[in-house]
Amino acid sequence: MKKSFQQYRTHLCHELGLKDVGQKVSLCGWVQSKRDHGGLLFVDLRDREGVTQVVFHPDKDPVLFASAKQIKDEFVIKVVGVVVERPAGTKNAAIPTGEIELEAENLEILNPSLPLPFNLDESIENEELRLSFRFLDLRRKKLLNSLKLRHQVTYVVREYLTSKGFLEIETPILSKSTPEGARDFLVPSRLSPGKFYALPQAPQQYKQLLMVAGIDKYFQIARCFRDEDLRSDRQPEFTQIDIEASFVVVDDILQWVEEMIQQIFSKVLGIELSLPFARITYKQALDLYGSDKPDLRIAWQIQDVGEVFENTEFKIFREVLARGGVIKALNAKQASPVVGPTGIAELEELAKSMGAKGLAYIRIEDKEWKSPIVKFFSMEERKKLENVLGIEPADLILFSAGPWDQACQVLGKVRLQLAEMTRSVPSNEWKFVWVTDFPLFEYSPLEQKWNSVHHPFTRPCQEDIGKLDSGRYDEIRALAYDIVLNGVELGGGSIRIHEKELQEKIFSILGIDKERQKLLFGHLLKAFQYGAPPHGGIALGLDRFVMLLSGAETIRDVIAFPKNRHGVDLLTQSPSEVDFQQLKELHIKLAFPSLDSRLRQEPEIEP
Ligand code: ASP
Repeated sequence: MKKSFQQYRTHLCHELGLKDVGQKVSLCGWVQSKRDHGGLLFVDLRDREGVTQVVFHPDKDPVLFASAKQIKDEFVIKVVGVVVERPAGTKNAAIPTGEIELEAENLEILNPSLPLPFNLDESIENEELRLSFRFLDLRRKKLLNSLKLRHQVTYVVREYLTSKGFLEIETPILSKSTPEGARDFLVPSRLSPGKFYALPQAPQQYKQLLMVAGIDKYFQIARCFRDEDLRSDRQPEFTQIDIEASFVVVDDILQWVEEMIQQIFSKVLGIELSLPFARITYKQALDLYGSDKPDLRIAWQIQDVGEVFENTEFKIFREVLARGGVIKALNAKQASPVVGPTGIAELEELAKSMGAKGLAYIRIEDKEWKSPIVKFFSMEERKKLENVLGIEPADLILFSAGPWDQACQVLGKVRLQLAEMTRSVPSNEWKFVWVTDFPLFEYSPLEQKWNSVHHPFTRPCQEDIGKLDSGRYDEIRALAYDIVLNGVELGGGSIRIHEKELQEKIFSILGIDKERQKLLFGHLLKAFQYGAPPHGGIALGLDRFVMLLSGAETIRDVIAFPKNRHGVDLLTQSPSEVDFQQLKELHIKLAFPSLDSRLRQEPEIEP
């Protein structure tokens, strides 16, 4: 192609090398730095892809040199020049263009820049400042790389799912409230006074309706909205890789997702994962790891030591067992010398914050068992415990006694904290695990009602369907699955209910009466009467996934324009107040106007 220097650029800033020496080229970008070396001016010119060094000679063209002196950091410039090899001793092996430089012949300042509020090369603690200048923050390499990685991930997702026959279909953003367990964002309707759209918490019902429509295999890189209090890895709007398919069983979905993740790792990170991923049931996950999102990078497992203490004289254990509770123990191998009494006190605090009365422990020092409770154990109990837990010198044993779920969860948290304290979490391992057989319902003592563990469209296990009529709701397992990576829940899904009667029954158990069922889910119940195929699906959180892949510490670092912890976009200052007129058109009157909007309220007397 013939190059024209009328156009902005002939190359990008990462492209030029020894092969281009002698060529006349033109580059555009930002001034990353300017250095004055013995009369010569060096400029590092940066674009999205890389950096090229540009050199200005004072004696070749004094006018050009004078204008080069004007430029400052982050000015946008266009340089036309000739590629030359850098003199020996000045080459830079760290960058792809490090063997050459551009001898400038022409410089155009396309736009100047104010001095930056922060340095793009350094890591900046002040995230609020970064977010309010996000367009500059995104010029930093780390964030740019996250966005590139994110793009590559979605590219592979599209490529893989398309190859398997999935169609990418968009579903409405202005939609109807769908119960995914969070608060909805509502959008008032101007055309239907007093009515509201809800922003989708997930495209759940739409994707099921697409199955009824015969779409067979659907996916979407879907934006979801949940009005929750924000934690470090939550955003009010986030993105899911949303998948649904007809005529599938659990294994079909699991296999597609495994292959998709395998391809992402291979194509984006160059890491080959072996399939299939580990699978454990919800019950096993709690029993062994004290969590439904177990971090399998940590080797320690929780054990049940109820049998050891079945006839114990130790009052606390005896009473827990008598009440139908369990005694769980964790042997943190070799942790005793590292953790010490202050560490144990910290762990005890953690256990108490979770409702435990305390945290019994044994520190094994050489052969000696140091513990406030061992004196209550018989010789036989000690022997059995030693065998069951494989106790050796330097081990640290922790106990939790109480109701099953609480005892497991306490040791689950202790396990994670201990692993951090003893630095036993390998940083370069990728441990995937499927957690299956979740309970369908959980009882909320606060609301005094049963709620869905996943969502109300989840199908009960076939063997447990009979229990729906017997009222043994806590024993019903769901055909639901979560995928967990290194202790982080990446996503979850289920086989769905496709029969009207079964769906109505579940709604009723959840306390949704017939009238509300019709109001909230009439469309789905209607659709189920017109040949709804058996179907199932899953959704994976894209932000969290990319966060893990890129090693970012928060999901804000993998989202171009995230909200801060208070749900505010500091760059655009959204949410913001709106004009009285806008509210009026929406048929809305503020009950608690803020000072600003009060000033803008309708005048008392119309002129
Ligand atoms: N809609 C569910 C969610 O957002 C995922 C699914 O069941 O496919 O968590």
